[in-house]
Parts: sequence; structure tokens; C-alpha cells
Amino acid sequence: MYADIILPLALPKRTYTYSVPESVAALIQPGVRVEVQFGRSKRYSGLVERVHHQAPDYEVKPILSVLDEVTVVTPQQFRLWDWMADYYCCTLGEVMSAALPGHLKLTSETRLVFNDQYGDNFSDLDDEEYLIAEGLHIQQEIVVEDARKILNKKTVFPVIQRLLNKGVLFIREELQEKFKPRKVTALRLAEPYRSQPEQLRQVMSDLSGKERQLEILMAYLTLEKRQPIVLKQEVLQKADVTKASLNTVIKKGILEKYAREVSRLGGYEDELVEADTLSAQQERAVQELKAQDKKVTLLHGVTGSGKTRVYVEMMREVIRNGGQVLYLLPEIGLTTQIIHRLQKVFGNEISVYHSRINTQERVEVWKSAAAGKSVILAARSGLFLPFKQLDLVIVDEEHDPSFKQYDPAPRYHARDTAIFLASLYGAKTLLGTATPSLENWHNVETGKFGLVEMPERFGGLQLPEVQTIDLREQLKHRQMQSIFSKPLLDQLQIALDNGEQAILFQNRRGYAPMLECEVCGWNAMCRHCDVSLTYHKHTHRLRCHYCGYVQEPAKVCPACGSGKITFKGFGTEKIEDELKLFLPNAKIGRMDLDTAGTKSNLSALLNDFEEKRLDILVGTQMVTKGLDFDNVGLVGVLGADALTKFPDFRSGERAFHLLTQVAGRAGRKNKRGLVLIQAFDPGHPVIKEVLAHDFPSFMQREMQERMTFKYPPFYRLIHLELRHKEPKIVNEAASFYAKTLRAKLGDRVLGPVIPNIARIRNYFGQNIMLKLEKSAPVISGAKSLIRQTTEIMLGKPGWSQVQVAVDVDPV
Ligand SMILES: [Zn+2]
Ligand SMILES: [Zn+2]
Repeated sequence: MYADIILPLALPKRTYTYSVPESVAALIQPGVRVEVQFGRSKRYSGLVERVHHQAPDYEVKPILSVLDEVTVVTPQQFRLWDWMADYYCCTLGEVMSAALPGHLKLTSETRLVFNDQYGDNFSDLDDEEYLIAEGLHIQQEIVVEDARKILNKKTVFPVIQRLLNKGVLFIREELQEKFKPRKVTALRLAEPYRSQPEQLRQVMSDLSGKERQLEILMAYLTLEKRQPIVLKQEVLQKADVTKASLNTVIKKGILEKYAREVSRLGGYEDELVEADTLSAQQERAVQELKAQDKKVTLLHGVTGSGKTRVYVEMMREVIRNGGQVLYLLPEIGLTTQIIHRLQKVFGNEISVYHSRINTQERVEVWKSAAAGKSVILAARSGLFLPFKQLDLVIVDEEHDPSFKQYDPAPRYHARDTAIFLASLYGAKTLLGTATPSLENWHNVETGKFGLVEMPERFGGLQLPEVQTIDLREQLKHRQMQSIFSKPLLDQLQIALDNGEQAILFQNRRGYAPMLECEVCGWNAMCRHCDVSLTYHKHTHRLRCHYCGYVQEPAKVCPACGSGKITFKGFGTEKIEDELKLFLPNAKIGRMDLDTAGTKSNLSALLNDFEEKRLDILVGTQMVTKGLDFDNVGLVGVLGADALTKFPDFRSGERAFHLLTQVAGRAGRKNKRGLVLIQAFDPGHPVIKEVLAHDFPSFMQREMQERMTFKYPPFYRLIHLELRHKEPKIVNEAASFYAKTLRAKLGDRVLGPVIPNIARIRNYFGQNIMLKLEKSAPVISGAKSLIRQTTEIMLGKPGWSQVQVAVDVDPV
């Protein structure tokens, strides 16, 4: 017997054949993992795709062990992987690598970490498990290779797998946050009051006259009737007293504190609330969605129209029928805000899956998806879960470019992949956004997708008033104060005086993007990339945003010796800094990659703004993504030109999306919000369309341009990037590559050209672009030509180290 195995590597062949020894034959079936050797000595957990009796004409290695008793990958997952490998022009191994979570991938080098939560009671373990557990308990972290030494045997994957299943260890992945169970402080009655009601009555009458203490006790008793656990925070809130009064009650020995661990998943213990009543517009949208006969529907609702409430209604229907919902959001959108909103309605029906949860949590969600958990809220990796009965896929903020994975392969678009995933289960897909992508608007116009619109804001609120500020005029009349125009500073002051909050948007982090000599024009460049270094004031360092290289800023020009070197341009850090000078009393927060690097920092920042401990939030595009605040009177965009002038065919679309989304954060419950856009070219068509909230004109103009210049949605693009450390080698390889493609595809092939940034991390690049008409034979022909050409090119002497990145449908 033989088995075809997928290995988690970028290998040329789809699968590799191994023989099945008698001893494991009974356990082998498609979808289980096996331990195999690949190359001279390395071992991997591979996945059985097919079992058969056709002996290949070469000598095969045997399967060493079987790791699973039941399949870990479903037939639908196999089909999804195949589709992705084919569509995105990569290998099945690369898809497998991206799709399987860490705990299902073992290699000889995998690092194993002891799970402190397990404790030191090893009585449930067999001898081999015990030896490894003990070794790990002492050393905390070992590699699989060490386990082989401990047991003095070659095949250890099965033992490690059992220990993983039992929760004794987990797999160390890069950037993994250490697993800490969330702890909350809960309160309960101290003895003897807990068990003796008459004593409790006594102490209550003793407290008469001590109003606040009595208040606390009453609040506790009311909460206790309703819920199994009473949190300290809830008592404080309900009684509306200070911590000091509570501490007195605790000191008196009436109530006592205890710490309680809550699982991060399904740990929702607050009360469930009934979702708000649907507005007339929401009600209509729900009816239209239910009546849709198209498989995919675009829900186009302006910012603040209340799309989430519509999703809730659609999700409920699926849950009632026993199905599952996958709710995809851009990573950054997965903040506590949306999670909490949905948990309030669905409680423990919801699991959350994204790159910032740890291994343990990931294992839990993986299992719960397979068991049929109703709702999974996820970033793009949620596509890879083993669903049982998927009935609905929601892609929220479908226009967001971060749904596209760039590096490493598979370079897939989660929204487009989601549509295919849904089709495998016969599920419906709902794409929601205030600013549809051109691709999907085209799909609506050609009748491929259905459309439901929500043109009004919830509660009859008006869309914000958008105004432009001409920076040329401001400079001419000497009205600029640093980077702020007079109207912007004035309006900020007015907002603060009215007790409103403001958001300032600039799509660049750091203090200044350039350090330049005024005498000779020298500027500080990265040592490894052809980009200028960004100055970060907080750390007083110049940093490369491409490779992370850091250096101290020079005090004199290294080229001419002049001391006149200055920072040019500005990022979010400078805005925050300068704002403090003009508005000394404002409390200012900053949200960008530098401040919101971890999950907890990000939620702390958002909580502070939501609970009005901050007056102004300065941020990059992070602030545009699906956040809802109810007290933002003003939104300011500092330099809109950087968006509209960016040299890329998507810059118009991107600028329209970003400006509309950030403008959409403005608006209070009962008051229209104001948006001020500073620009040197306020007459740019995109800015005018944002000003007028004129989506139809924007679409019409942009579609026309795309058609004229042969871009999506009318043509399909495949982008190729070749890289090598030697510019000469990559130049030659790229010309050969383009010539080979051009021989068959003619003028559909553009390039090679040197990319905007010629060198990144010391690798020189060359780009080739394919513009293909939307014809299935042309596209599949081009893809197989790319595969062949890559193989031929890599086979040429001296070119084997050239890296090729194939990006289908680049964004
Ligand atoms: Zn100089
Ligand atoms: Zn660099």
C-alpha cells in the first residue's frame, strides 16, 4: 500500500509518495497526519491526501508513524487548498503551511514548551510521556530533536502528539504571547454569612445608618440572585460608591475577594441583552437579504448605517437552523469593541480566531469549529478552520486591502477565498462595506452579485459635513502654525470647549520621514534598502520601515560637514508632539504600529478614547477601520495629497476609501460631525467626490480609467517580483523571464522594470506585470507558463538562488 503525502514546504511536486508499513496500515486514511522523512535526515508531519496501490517507479521511503486517530482535515479543506494553490499559483505545501495551526505542524526543529497550567502531577502519563514531560518541566523548552535523545529512539512524533493532546506542552511559535489565563476579581459573602442567613440579617441591621456600606451589600445580593459570579467591578458600578467603602465592607469581614480564572474563549459571563430593535432601513435590508437568490450579496451601507445589526439578524437565522457562521474582519477590526458587541447578543456562541491569540486558544477554536460552534469571528486565517456546517460567511469591510496576504505565499485574498469556501458548503456570502471595491461593484453591475443598500445613517443622523482647506492659501497668508492650518486649530479648540472628541489622521507613522541636509541635499538612507530612514523622536533613532534597521541621527552632514540638517515631512508622532504645544490642556493619544503593537495596548487605547479619557486620537489608517465612537465632533486629515498622488493604479480607489472611512468616524448622537481635509491640491477629483459623498461619480470615473488603461476589474493582473543580492543576476534573470513569457503572451507582458524601491534588505528587485483579459484559457495558460518559466529559470547556472514572488490579483 502507498500514500500520497502533502509536506508543509514549498516543493515542486504536489504530493510525495511513501510506502505504508503493515504496522500502521489500519490507521492510514486521507486527512490524518503521518511522520515522514524528507531529505537526508529531517522529519516532518505530512498529511495523507490519497491511499492507493500503484507502486511508483522509484524507491520510496516508509511512513514512520501515524499521528492522528481521526482526520484533522476535512474533504472541503482539501478542495479549498487545491483551489488556492491553483488560483494563487503556489504549491500545495505552502497552502498547507499557512492553513494548519502550529499545534498540527511538527518538524525535527519544532520547539516544545512546557505548559505551566498542567502542574507537576504526571500520574496520567505513560513511561515515555513521563520522561519527556519531566525533561520539559526542568528545562521549560526543548526541541523535538532533544526528545529523541531523551527517549533514545528515532520516532518520537507520536509521543509528542499525545502530550500536546493532553495539554502537557505546547508548540512555541514566533511572536507568541505567553499564555496567561485571564483573572478577574470576584466577590462573595464571607463566612458565617454565606451559610447562615440569620447572621446576614443581623449584620445588615447593624449596618443601618452606614448607607454606603449597606448600598454595597444590597447591590451584591441583587447581583448574586441573577448570576453565578459577581465581579468586584459590577458591585462598584451598581452601588455607585467608591472603592474605599467597598474596602470597609471587606475589612469588616462581610464580603471577601477571590480571584477567578476565566477562559478567554466562551468566557462570557455578563448578561445577554436583546439586540436593539431594527430601524425601518435595517428591517428592509434584512428582508431583502433573505429574499436574495444570488449566492453572494454586497451590503452597501454608508458609515454609521448600522450594518452590524443587520449581520446579527442574519446570523441568528443561521443559528436557529443549526448552521455555522464565519464572520471575517480585517485583523485590526477585531478589537474588543466588535467582539463585545456580538458577545452581548450571542454570549458563548462566539469564538474568536486571529493571529494574536495564543496556541492554546487556537487549539480550542479549531476544535470548536469542527464540533459545529455557531459563530466564529476571525481574521483571514479563519478561512482555514475545519467547519462542520458552514451556512453563512460575512466579510465585513470587504474593501480593506489587509485581507490580502502578501508574504509569504500563498498570496491570497481572504475575501475572494471566502466566496469560494462558501461555495464548497453551499453557504451564502455577505460582503459588507461603506465603500465597495471596484471589483465587487463590477460584480454587482454585471449581475453576478446581489446588492442591498442602506443609504442613510442610523437614527436619521446626517453624513458629516466635509470641507477642504487649501494649504497653498494658508501658507500664502501665513496662517499655518507648524503643520496645522488655522481653521483646523480653531475647530479643534471649539470641539474641546464643547466637550467633544477629535480624530486626526495622517497615513505615516514616526516623527519625520526624512533627515535632510539643507546645504548639499544629502539625506539619511537605509543601509540595506533604497529608502530614507524615518525619525522616531521617542527613541531618538532613525528607523527603516522596510527592514527595521536602526541608527542614531547624524548631527552634521556626513557628505559636506554642514550642521544644517533638518527633518522633512511629518508623521503621527510629530502631530502628537506639536499638538501639545498648541492645545496644552488636551489629552492626546496616538494609534499606530508603534503604540498599538500588542493586543492589550490597542484595546487600552481604544478603551481610553471610548470612555473619554482622551480628547484627541492621532493615528494612521488604523483609526479608519470599523471603530464606532459616539462623541467625535471633528475629524481632521492632515495631508491628503500623499494619498491622492501615490503612484499606483489603485491610489484613487484607496484615497476615496480611506477619506470616506475616516470621515465616517465623525458624528455624535444628535449632531452632525465636521471633517476638515488639508491639501495642497483640494481640487483633486477624489477629494471633491469625498466632499460631496458622491459615490456614483467616483465609481463611474474610476471605472472608466480602469477600462481605458486595462486594469481590474476589466482585466486580471499577475504581478511577478524577482529578487537577488546581485543586481546583475536579477536583471538578467528577469529579462530572460519576461522574454520567455512574451514569446507566448505577447504584449500582455509588461516589464521587467525596477520597482519603486529598487533594493530591500539588500535584495535587488525586478518587476514583471501581466495584464490578462478575463478568459479562463488565457489565465490558466499564463499560470502554467509562469510555473514552467520559474522552473526553467531556476535551472540555469547561477540563477538557482533567484527568488520569485507570484502575486495573483495584487492589491
Ligand atoms: Zn550636506
Ligand atoms: Zn531597510
